[in-house]
Amino acid sequence: MKFILFDLDGTLIKSGRAGARALDYAILHMTGKADVCSKIDLHGTTDKVNFANAYREAAGMEPSEEHIKEITYRYLARLPHEIEWSVKNGLYSKINGIEEFLKTLSERKDVLVGMGTGNVERGAFIKLGPAGLGRYFPYGGYGEDAHDRAKMLKIGVQRGCFLADLKPDDVEVYIIGDTHKDINAAKAAGYHSAVVTSGFGDPEKIKEAGPEFMQTDFTSIKAWFGWLGLE
Ligand SMILES: [Mg+2]
Repeated sequence: MKFILFDLDGTLIKSGRAGARALDYAILHMTGKADVCSKIDLHGTTDKVNFANAYREAAGMEPSEEHIKEITYRYLARLPHEIEWSVKNGLYSKINGIEEFLKTLSERKDVLVGMGTGNVERGAFIKLGPAGLGRYFPYGGYGEDAHDRAKMLKIGVQRGCFLADLKPDDVEVYIIGDTHKDINAAKAAGYHSAVVTSGFGDPEKIKEAGPEFMQTDFTSIKAWFGWLGLE
């Protein structure tokens, strides 16, 4: 059995900075500081790390557990509005070919598709809403599972194992992302790794991380099947 775990931002969709705006909104409310996300690097990290970095940047101090809870709550309350705004302004898009690729994979008995994303689970499905891609992801590892991406991926794989009644040793895991952090996490967890280059990744850093496979997007299902060892 092959598990294929997809990152979300820049790999499945681009949400036109909806997440950053929702986080800015939460931080503005709590600290009075605007536009804090323009000062931190959000890509490839988990939500909770981003929430902590944003708070630290704005407030000049470490957030408490309670602060993180409040940011998460305010972020999730704001996110649907920001996603809608991105859609209305033409800033929301699917990565080319992703829907057909997911549909093709979901019809196979030897593959189980899941998510491996730093987004908190509810935020992930809010972001996927307009693309209608949520139904392809019956399990996953999410931002609330771990700060460390490799650990988050392993928890996702464990959940897939529950669903498919398998042990981790029975499964070959393939991670698809858009930044070097996806690759590094996949390697640390002992999984295969590939990258789409039309996301948010830095080409130099991607090259350095050394994924097994690279494509611009998902339009060539045949090429992806070659890497995945599928007929
Ligand atoms: Mg990404």
